[in-house]
Amino acid sequence: MSQDPKLQPRYSGIPTFMRTPFVPELEGLDIALVGVPFDGGVTNRTGTRHGPREVRNQSSLMRTINQATGVAPFELVNVGDAGDAVPDSPFELLAAHASIEAFFRRIKAAGVVPIAAGGDHSITLPILRALAQEGPLALVHFDAHCDTGDFYLGSRFHHGSPFKVAAEEGLIDPTKTIQIGIRGSVTDRDIWKFSYDSGMRVIHIEEFYQLGLDAVIAEIKRVVGASPVYVTFDVDGLDPVYAPGTGTPEIGGFTTFEAQQMIRSLAGLDIVGADVVEVSPPFDPSGVTALTGATMMFELLCVSALALQRRRDAADTHSGNDGG
Ligand code: MN
Ligand code: MN
Repeated sequence: MSQDPKLQPRYSGIPTFMRTPFVPELEGLDIALVGVPFDGGVTNRTGTRHGPREVRNQSSLMRTINQATGVAPFELVNVGDAGDAVPDSPFELLAAHASIEAFFRRIKAAGVVPIAAGGDHSITLPILRALAQEGPLALVHFDAHCDTGDFYLGSRFHHGSPFKVAAEEGLIDPTKTIQIGIRGSVTDRDIWKFSYDSGMRVIHIEEFYQLGLDAVIAEIKRVVGASPVYVTFDVDGLDPVYAPGTGTPEIGGFTTFEAQQMIRSLAGLDIVGADVVEVSPPFDPSGVTALTGATMMFELLCVSALALQRRRDAADTHSGNDGG
């Protein structure tokens, strides 16, 4: 299958992410697009287990060149669809997380950069466990919620707590973590206390619009610096007019264009992995949420390809392999 719509119509063939080849064994891949069809960590409205399949379907609308930035990711790096990280025991949260972690450990061991489509936000925890082997990562986190909550209905692990657990496990550096788009009603005034106490930079939506996009982008770069960084994009960070198909919608969010501008601004950061989570197709028969998810994945792919190319250039320079 070719990604080039000039060679094969985009509505044809078996749907993979962005019409890339299906490469479950990861041979020759630089970047793996992965589905994580799991929503056992959802606290309320479920359905994100259907996210990867619908994102794959809508992702056939992606073309090959980013018109705004000029980046052509499929020319820079080898990209493939590595299939789904299917939990062995999908009804047992901790066992499911363990098998998701094992899937991403295999990707990490192969030297491949993963870009995942969830799934609920709890899946980011096992992905971080697989990727943060050399030390804590910086984190750019788009979301209406900080997801640094505590025990909920007796469980420490759910889609409202991955970044508290990740910080406690030393997978992310809270002082190099930025959370953007936070809003909505809460049940407890201190619900996101952990974010503040641990030193995360929290940008509520009110501050987002007060600062303006350029200042928010400058803040992302200041917080992350040159550290290896994971990027996690919860579609409920967007206003629900752009992403109605999600379990925990909150009105008053940023726009899809603002999200694209923010992701494009990550060019230059040392991105080591990314995900788009919380696409819940049953709540959106129009499919626009999955299209939004697929488009954010494409934007993340473009900046991840640039980061990978830069790491390679640096390695070539250091080893003296590069004549030019
Ligand atoms: Mn979230
Ligand atoms: Mn959220």
